[in-house]
Amino acid sequence: MTRAPEVLDVLVVGAGAVGGAIALGAARQGLKVGLLEQDEAPRFDASMPVTRVVTLNQASMGFLAELGVREALEVRRAHAFSGMTVWDAHGPGHIRFEADELGVPALGWTVENAALEAVLWGAMEAAGVQLWPATRWHTLDSRPERVDLYGAGARALASARLVVAADGAHSPLRRRMGIAVAEQPYFARGVVATVATAQPHRDTAWQRFVDDQVIAFLPLADGRCSIVWSQPDHVAEETLALGDDAFRRALERVSDGCLGAITETSPRFAFPLIGRHARDYHAGRVVLAGDAAHTIHPLAGQGLNLGLADARALVDGLHGPARRDPGAETVLRAYTRARRAENGFMLHAMDGFRRLFGARLAGLPELRGLGVRLVDGAGPVKRRLALRAFGLDRGA
Ligand SMILES: Cc1cc2nc3c(=O)[nH]c(=O)nc-3n(C[C@H](O)[C@H](O)[C@H](O)COP(=O)(O)OP(=O)(O)OC[C@H]3O[C@@H](n4cnc5c(N)ncnc54)[C@H](O)[C@@H]3O)c2cc1C
Repeated sequence: MTRAPEVLDVLVVGAGAVGGAIALGAARQGLKVGLLEQDEAPRFDASMPVTRVVTLNQASMGFLAELGVREALEVRRAHAFSGMTVWDAHGPGHIRFEADELGVPALGWTVENAALEAVLWGAMEAAGVQLWPATRWHTLDSRPERVDLYGAGARALASARLVVAADGAHSPLRRRMGIAVAEQPYFARGVVATVATAQPHRDTAWQRFVDDQVIAFLPLADGRCSIVWSQPDHVAEETLALGDDAFRRALERVSDGCLGAITETSPRFAFPLIGRHARDYHAGRVVLAGDAAHTIHPLAGQGLNLGLADARALVDGLHGPARRDPGAETVLRAYTRARRAENGFMLHAMDGFRRLFGARLAGLPELRGLGVRLVDGAGPVKRRLALRAFGLDRGA
């Protein structure tokens, strides 16, 4: 094998939002950074149909502002929402959150993955990150002082003192480094689509629990909604097979007509839902971030928010003495300490929530409804819930 030509400070693998944010943050600190992505460079233009959408909280938007990309994102069909309504099909109660009540301008933003990734890519280009789109690594040499990556035919691709695995839930880098993962299959899928509704969404995110299913309507800038419908595998298969008319009627039923008739729908896609948590966040000079480290049920829209919190912690940890060796054991241990317990807490909390709402035991639905009503009536409890869920308890 030939030796890699240059030793970078940081090499990020994966140009999802988490990888892009880490590479940009590290480059802004004056470090020598590269990024390798197996697909073409992400792009976005306003004539593209809406595909995947995430909700970002205050903490994530604050971090994107620090990186200098928030404004560019906001003009690319991002939409701030000011209300959230959560309720249970079997109970009498609703929880309603309002931005005004919490003293903030917005509870969250619906953002298209493609827009966020494209904005980060453009900013990385401008910040001098060495970008390798449509490039896959094949083998890796993990040495005490650096990591070398090689492409097909043992061609040297890049070397770095720190390699960040931001390569998604199936993370080939995580596997290569032998980091084990605890998996929790939910035997469920998230069916997603974009829909138009007879009634306006009123800048509100709507979420209804119906037995073992959860339906969420996320408000978009053009007045339509992106839906995420979590369903057991066999039900999701039936939903995907429905004709458009039957799908619209099923959506009206499951959402209890909260936004009136569904007047239009896009094609549907489904994502398998599996909870995962890596047993460790680093091995040698390779560190995990975002979905490579953890995946979570989408019911609270936290997956990418946790990933961007990883990105912020990793970038913050590269200040000061860490600049001399970003892949040093002490740096990676501090990052793991900062993020693993926090992510583990969220994974467990969401799993508890999902089990509680998915349970069919006698009396439980009524208790759930009562709990929802009590939380809505109990100012301090509701406030604490909201601060955590909307990222208001961390620096925005
Ligand atoms: C239905 C659904 C709804 C969701 N809703 C929300 C929400 O509302 N809010 C929220 O915060 N989160 C949400 N999430 C979670 C969120 O989408 C993910 O957490 C987030 O997109 C993960 O980002 P990432 O950058 O870590 O990984 P990814 O976006 O998966 O990026 C990984 C990148 O690595 C690249 N890659 C992989 N292997 C290689 C390789 N060998 N070489 C080079 N490149 C490679 C891939 O091509 C990709 O570009 C949702 C998830 C689902 C399934």
